[in-house]
Amino acid sequence: MCIFCKIISGDILNKTILENDKFLAFEDINPLRKIHILIIPKEHFNSFEQIPANIMGQMTSFIQELTKKLNLNKDGYRLITNIGEHGGQEVEHLHFHILGGEKVGKLLG
Ligand code: AMP
Repeated sequence: MCIFCKIISGDILNKTILENDKFLAFEDINPLRKIHILIIPKEHFNSFEQIPANIMGQMTSFIQELTKKLNLNKDGYRLITNIGEHGGQEVEHLHFHILGGEKVGKLLG
């Protein structure tokens, strides 16, 4: 079982920000900015390459609900997903990073 599946099953603790039956948003353990949240589907997909478009649509709604809840939609934020080796992906369970709470700059730190 991958590390994020263990978070979903409760075997690894997390700081949950928002959750529903299909998705989970939680704090990144190693925050790169004031706000650094990871959003994952509860169903395992290795990366953005595997997620079906209809589930990605539901994930989009979930992310928008999260950014409204945190008032990030007003000042903005960065939303990224790393894909594969060249994309710098370390955890092979699709996740989006939200970075915000301050100006994040042109490049990730
Ligand atoms: P990536 O390089 O896109 O695969 O990002 C993986 C992210 O997962 C990194 O930002 C890590 O800090 C984060 N991470 C790894 N393990 C945990 C964990 N147990 N709880 C929260 N975040 C984690």
